[in-house]
Amino acid sequence: MATVSYTSSTIDPELSKQFESALARARAGRQAPILHHIGNTESDAGESFASRDPANPATVLASAHTAGRDVVDAAVAAARGSAAGWRNTHHEERIEVMRAAADGFATREMELAGALSAETGKSRLESLAEVQESHDLIEQYCDVLEAGNGFITPMKGRNGEHNVDVLRPYGVFGVIAPFNFPIALAIGMTAAALVTGNAVVLKPSDKTPLSTELAAEIVRNALPDGVLNVVQGGPATGTALAESAIDGLAFTGSAKVGWGLIQQLSRGPRPRPVLAEMGGQNPVIVTDSADLDAAASGIVRSAYGFSGQKCSSTRRVIVARAVYDGLLERLVARTGELVVGDAALQEMNVGPLIDEVIADRVERALKSADTDGHVVTGGRERSLPGHFFRPIIVTGLPRGHRLTREELFAPFVTITAVDDFEEAIGEANAVDFGLTAGIFTTDDRQIDQFFSEAEAGVLYANRAAGATTGAWPGEQSFCGWKQSGSTGKGGLGPWYPQGFCREQNRTFV
Ligand code: GLU
Repeated sequence: MATVSYTSSTIDPELSKQFESALARARAGRQAPILHHIGNTESDAGESFASRDPANPATVLASAHTAGRDVVDAAVAAARGSAAGWRNTHHEERIEVMRAAADGFATREMELAGALSAETGKSRLESLAEVQESHDLIEQYCDVLEAGNGFITPMKGRNGEHNVDVLRPYGVFGVIAPFNFPIALAIGMTAAALVTGNAVVLKPSDKTPLSTELAAEIVRNALPDGVLNVVQGGPATGTALAESAIDGLAFTGSAKVGWGLIQQLSRGPRPRPVLAEMGGQNPVIVTDSADLDAAASGIVRSAYGFSGQKCSSTRRVIVARAVYDGLLERLVARTGELVVGDAALQEMNVGPLIDEVIADRVERALKSADTDGHVVTGGRERSLPGHFFRPIIVTGLPRGHRLTREELFAPFVTITAVDDFEEAIGEANAVDFGLTAGIFTTDDRQIDQFFSEAEAGVLYANRAAGATTGAWPGEQSFCGWKQSGSTGKGGLGPWYPQGFCREQNRTFV
C-alpha cells in the first residue's frame, strides 16, 4: 500500500499513473445501482438519486436509493439479530476479523482512491492518504482494544470478593457519515463501534454513496451477516435512523445537524449516547517572532487543501500587527501559485466544492466580505464546469463579524491583526467551536501559554506541513471541544473506542 499521508509532499509517479486510470474508471460510471444491505439481503427500495462528479456535475457516477423508515427499521432489526453473536465473540477474534478487513483497503486502494476523487473532487494525494488513513484507523482501534485487554480490568477485592470492571458494547449503533471524508470517517466511526462488539447500521452521505459503499463492502465481507448494515439516503433517512431503536449514534457533520441528533436521541426511551464531531472555526496565531515562510506554508495547506472542506481547515489567521504585511504578502503569493482544477491534473491543489448549495453560500459570503471588509484575492472560477473557487483571503472585517465566527466549508480565510499575544488568544477563543488551532512563534513561553489556554482539542505549534489539518490515527487524537464535539473524547486516539461501550462491574465470591 502506498504510504501517503495528508502531510506528504510527493507521490510516486507509478502510483500517480495507477490513480489516473482508477479515476477514469470511476468517471465512466457504475452501471449497477448501489443497494441497501440489510442482514444477508440487498434492497433497491425507495426513490432513486444520483451521485455526481462535483468537477463536472453533468457526469453521473452511480445511482442509489433513499431508504425510508421501513428500510431503516429492517436494518436496525437485522443488526439487533446479529448483535448478541458478535458481542459474545471473543475480543481477540473480533480484532482478527477487523485487521483482515483493514487489509482489504490495501488490496483495493486505487479503486477506492479513484472513486473518492471522482465523487468529492479531492486531489490524488488527499484521496490516497484517506484510503491509507482508513486502514490505519481500523488498526488503531484494534490496537487500543488489544492494549486494554478487551477493556477487561481487574479491580481490588476484600473479604474474598473478586472484582472485574468490563466495558461492554451498547448493542446497535447508528453511524451517520459525512461527504468530506466518506471513507475514513465512515470507516473510523464504524470500526470503533464494531471492534468493541456493537452491530452497526451505517448511513453514508447522499453526496457520496459510492465511496462509502465501496469501503463498507470491504468491512461487511469480513463480518458475519447483519453485523454491518448499510442504508443509503439523505437527511430524511438520517432522521429515521435517529428515531429508530438504535442504542447509540456516531455522527460527523455540521453543528446544526449534530445538535438536532443529540436532542432526538435524548428524547428516550432512555438516555442514549451520541458521539458527534461537529466542525470548527479554526484559528492560526502568527506572532511577531514567527518564521513567516513556515507560517504561510502551513496556513495555505490547511486553508485550501480539499478546498477548505475539512472540519480541521484553517479559517482565521490572527497575526501580530508588526508582521501583518509580511505574512499577507506571502499568503497572497502562495495562493497565487495554487492550481485550481480537476483531480485528473497531477499538479492540482484546489478542487471543486461539493455542490451548488455550498457554492451559493460562498458567493453570499463573498458579497458580505466585500461590503464589510476587503476581498484581497480569490472568487468563483467560472471557466470550469464544476463548483470551483480560487482561494479567498479576506481582511478588514470588524471584530466579531459573522464570517469570523461561523463555519463556512470553503477555501475562505479571514485575517485579523492584533496588538499583543493576550489579544490573539482571546480572539482565537472567541468562537463557539473548539476543534483545531495552530500557532507560529519562536517563543517557547507563548507555545506553553497557547497549549494551556487555547480552547480546542487539537493543537499544533509551528507545523508548516499543515497548520491545523492532517491529524493521523495513532499520532494525533482528534477531539472537538465546545460546540465541535459532544463527548470530550476524540477519534484517532487512545480513548475513542471506549465511547461505544458502557461500563459493567462484576463481583463474584
Ligand atoms: N482528520 C482530518 C484532519 O486532521 C480532518 C477530518 C475532518 O475534517 O473531520 O485534517
